[in-house]
Amino acid sequence: MIQMKNVIKKYPNGVLAANGITVNIKQGEFVYVVGPSGAGKSTFIKLMYREEKPTSGEVTVSGINLSTLKNARVPHLRRQLGVVFQDFKLLPRLTVYENVAFAMEVIEEQPKEIRKRVMEVLELVGLKHKVRMLPNELSGGEQQRVSIARSIVNKPKVLIADEPTGNLDPETSWEIMEIFEEINRQGTTIVMATHNREIVNTVRKRVIAIEGGMIVRDEYGGDYGYEG
Ligand code: ADP
Ligand code: ADP
Repeated sequence: MIQMKNVIKKYPNGVLAANGITVNIKQGEFVYVVGPSGAGKSTFIKLMYREEKPTSGEVTVSGINLSTLKNARVPHLRRQLGVVFQDFKLLPRLTVYENVAFAMEVIEEQPKEIRKRVMEVLELVGLKHKVRMLPNELSGGEQQRVSIARSIVNKPKVLIADEPTGNLDPETSWEIMEIFEEINRQGTTIVMATHNREIVNTVRKRVIAIEGGMIVRDEYGGDYGYEG
């Protein structure tokens, strides 16, 4: 589902944030990406949704070669991918419903299909009763649920999350993790960068550890592995 071959990413300031990454993530996998701050986790993830382009090497997602992908085709890629961020990135003037529906409107889905699917995903994340609220009327955990609903509303094959529980308390983080597990059970491949040791060590999945822009560990059922 996601392949990288000898990927190097050098930022204009000279920082080598990816230094020869080769990896293969199969359909249906759930992968944690761990490592110290500044290790290159976000860069690794940004290369997958083409927020960053590699300096050299090849990135393929869902059969789409991102290295040769024309800018005009990036929206096509984004439909195969859902992305969830630490800071939610909701549109503040739109309601819960509208934030999720918007993702379907931009790809010109039928209004009837939009209504049905938006309510379906809001039910999955447990927010059906809050459709008319604005983001600032919600808790952090609820805002993250909206952002997850938005990320999966177009039924992406891959869900990418960059520290999705970074701004949440432990209990809320667990609730969010349960939603990710449910999405994964339904067949979506998940790649999640995280600092949440407790979750990684409890819900065992594949762990890819990155340091200095390189994969230093890649283990199925691995642990978090860092102190502090
Ligand atoms: P992590 O997510 O593990 O904290 P990042 O991928 O954000 O790591 O960063 C890896 C390295 O690349 C860091 O040294 C960071 O400062 C640098 N970096 C990240 N983004 C940029 C950018 N847009 N321009 C220049 N350097 C960057
Ligand atoms: P994260 O919260 O995932 O660790 P960062 O704080 O590393 O994210 O980065 C926040 C934003 O700043 C990102 O868009 C990243 O590309 C950019 N960035 C990070 N480090 C640098 C840097 N050294 N120079 C320029 N931009 C950077």
